[in-house]
Amino acid sequence: MSLNYKADIVFRNVSFIHSGRANSIAVKDSKIYLVGTDAETRDVTGCDTKIVDCQDMVMIPGFHDAHLHILRLSANLTKLYCGPERAPTITDIKELLELEARKTPQGGWVKGWGYDHELLLEKRHPNRVDLDQAVPNHPVRLDHVSGHATVMNTMAMNKLGFSEYSVDPPKGVIGREEESGFPSGLFLDMGEYIGKSMIPYRDQLELEKGIILANQWLISKGITAIQDAGIGNDLERWNLFKRLKTLGLLDPQVTMMVGYDYCDEFSCLPIATNHLETGLSVGPAKIMLSLTTGSLIPDQKSLTDTITRLQLKGWQVAVHAVEQEAIECAATAICLASKIKSGARHRIEHCSEGDPTVIPLVDKSGAIVVTNPGFVWHFGDRYRSTLGSNIVSNIYPTGSLENWKIPWAIGSDAPMIMPDPILDIYTCATRVSKSGNPVGKEQAIPISQGIKAYTYGAAYSCFQEGQLGSIERGKFADLVLLSRDPTGLGYYSPTDVNVEMTVIRGRVVYEN
Ligand SMILES: [Zn+2]
Repeated sequence: MSLNYKADIVFRNVSFIHSGRANSIAVKDSKIYLVGTDAETRDVTGCDTKIVDCQDMVMIPGFHDAHLHILRLSANLTKLYCGPERAPTITDIKELLELEARKTPQGGWVKGWGYDHELLLEKRHPNRVDLDQAVPNHPVRLDHVSGHATVMNTMAMNKLGFSEYSVDPPKGVIGREEESGFPSGLFLDMGEYIGKSMIPYRDQLELEKGIILANQWLISKGITAIQDAGIGNDLERWNLFKRLKTLGLLDPQVTMMVGYDYCDEFSCLPIATNHLETGLSVGPAKIMLSLTTGSLIPDQKSLTDTITRLQLKGWQVAVHAVEQEAIECAATAICLASKIKSGARHRIEHCSEGDPTVIPLVDKSGAIVVTNPGFVWHFGDRYRSTLGSNIVSNIYPTGSLENWKIPWAIGSDAPMIMPDPILDIYTCATRVSKSGNPVGKEQAIPISQGIKAYTYGAAYSCFQEGQLGSIERGKFADLVLLSRDPTGLGYYSPTDVNVEMTVIRGRVVYEN
């Protein structure tokens, strides 16, 4: 029998949403050791046990962002922001870039992000001519807010070897100037390709600086686990994440999805068992199902074949599907593949256009949905003005997913939006946009269901519910302390509820 049965840390005077008598949590060796009354945890409190008084605030499991892009988020945090609030026109973007270029050493890249062509006064993407006018003597890269488009100036294109002879890669599109056929500077769905060819230009220090900023943001929002959904995630990326974890720059549990082109590189790793002890684990194989070129790529048959092939090798897959047509295709493929192997927990990412005709298909497929209700708050006004009312009523269909009892989770898809679980859960309950307009009110759900999707649902979506996602003895002590019980307020305003403390593996990593 072990002599040392004392806890490492005890959280006292805790409120729980469904409390019973318990008001205290003891943690030992990164895991929850005991949930009970103060008197019960006193038995496991020794002289070396650290005691934290939680002042009757509410403790819930740490938030788990089931879909984001941490490297892009961190890169953006060190780049020039050119979003609509700062630059409503292309002329404004040009001015910002010009100012940035003046501060950039000779030969250095000028990097901006966050523009949204639909919100620009000109209602178009900038092109190389615009960027050349602003910055002729530095390479410039400007990323769309979605991450699905990039604009470069002529110098940047030359540096990366783009010319009139460049051919479109299978999944991307090189924008062309009408007369000459020369690349216009706009590149669609080529971010990973461009990123990879730019790696020699990406400074290590800049990367680490961005990761530190992103980490700080995540823990300040109560996020204790993330899943990175990069389609370019390969073995090299895995080693990068490993290094960032070893350096202690990323506190949350990281689950890295693997781009399906790179799955074979991972045959040396035990993908079936998730090593949560190291704080880094392999997640599903990520497949992009896109309509960028006008038709679905890959097509129905090759998607079904790919999923079947990957699941035979032990992979869970996560299919990016936004439009109704794409969701139907993904659900059909998952349904067919699941006839061969059940319990694979394949996923549909985004499921944005959750029309009533596709939800039963998703249900039948047995897929888990990882959706982005936070977009409703950030982009809801645009959905209302550009999409048909039937699409708007079913966008990011949180209510339908609950009604059909489809397992689901929430992802921020950062850097599309900044991760903010309290705001996203509020949006699930209110279904209002930034300016207070209703966006699919019929999809509203209780706050408790939003919390579940952001904690247990996310853990379930990557086979981690045995170790994460709820406050239970034996699970990792990944916890967040909130200033108020969000479920007790009916509706709350997101500013009413603050993250007071974030605990990862029993260690307090953030305090307000
Ligand atoms: Zn994504």
